[in-house]
Amino acid sequence: MKTKILVVEDEAIIGMDIRNTLLRLGYEVPSVVISGEEAITKVDQYQPQLILMDIQLKKGGIDGIEASKIIQEKWQIPIVFLTAHSDSKTLERSKSTNLFGYIIKPFDEKDLYTTIEIALARAKAESEMRKAWAKEKELNELKSRFVSTVSHEFRTPLSTIALSTGLLEKYKSKWDEPKKQVHFQRIQSSIKQMTNLLDDVLTIGQIESGNMPFNPTPINLTQFLGQMLEEKQDLDQNLHPITYQIEGELSQICIDEKLFRHIFSNLLSNAIKYSPLGTEIKVKLTYSEHQVSITVSDQGIGIPPQDQQRLFEMFYRAENVGTIQGTGVGLSIVKRAVEMHGGQITVDSEVNQGTTFIVQIPLPDQNPDLLSP
Ligand code: ADP
Repeated sequence: MKTKILVVEDEAIIGMDIRNTLLRLGYEVPSVVISGEEAITKVDQYQPQLILMDIQLKKGGIDGIEASKIIQEKWQIPIVFLTAHSDSKTLERSKSTNLFGYIIKPFDEKDLYTTIEIALARAKAESEMRKAWAKEKELNELKSRFVSTVSHEFRTPLSTIALSTGLLEKYKSKWDEPKKQVHFQRIQSSIKQMTNLLDDVLTIGQIESGNMPFNPTPINLTQFLGQMLEEKQDLDQNLHPITYQIEGELSQICIDEKLFRHIFSNLLSNAIKYSPLGTEIKVKLTYSEHQVSITVSDQGIGIPPQDQQRLFEMFYRAENVGTIQGTGVGLSIVKRAVEMHGGQITVDSEVNQGTTFIVQIPLPDQNPDLLSP
């Protein structure tokens, strides 16, 4: 693609000349404008990669330097100045902009080319640096969010353990067995909660660093999901009726069992966690010619539209979670695990009406990742 250069030059003949030179040099010139004001509107329209700006503009109320300042406040476009003479005052003023280059008229083609290319290279380097900074900033924010979420999530089960062991110690001779059992169970479930969180954190770490093993093996998905569903239902003590519907048929599919466990277990746990007791959860497995899809629907609290886009970001939780516990890690693992299978996940939800997550995995004829090893 050709580099787009906007020319700002108030003398028509010179403007034409510059335009022709630029075209000869292989650039694209969407427009030659004659005033600073016009330059500002055309930048918005054409989004050029560079602007060649005459400093002395007689038309319009502002000169090239002022126009550049306005443009640079809004856009990150390198600007190369053109000027008829090299007076030191103008040069000094041009330095108050983010100065990318300076050419004194009349100039030859080679000078023009070199100045433009240097300015473009510098702009590219600057933009990469900006991206690196932004990434680092994002990473730092993520790290601090991570530390605060994880420490918070550890603190709750730890204080439960501290409390229950303390009580058990104090009342060991006074309490009967069932009373003690309540506290042993609380301790165990707190430990489980912490272990799960640690597992999630380790998994995310592995995925982020690209070290997550991906070992697709042939399994019977219908049975596999059926078993996990029963396990979850037991854990939930049957407080939500879960229905399991299967459409189509396929004896075996190659998937990574461990990752799939993450996917299905998270979606099912969320459906249970975010819906009132007694409401139904539907799981549907559909085999079609080129893909298999799994939908998990609940009749729970739903997800506000503005949060739906961001659910799969690490630590992101919707605003309506209230006191329901969570870390916002699960769905980001799910998304990555689905993507490792070449698939995609989508959500359809309405506040207080329920939520449906749909996972679609293309079958091996479309998806070489899933061929048997
Ligand atoms: P969490 O540990 O918070 O449950 P997840 O990553 O599993 O983290 O989910 C991210 C967020 O997506 C949740 O905090 C919640 O706001 C929303 N969410 C996920 N599943 C459901 C669901 N079935 N119903 C309503 N909200 C959901």
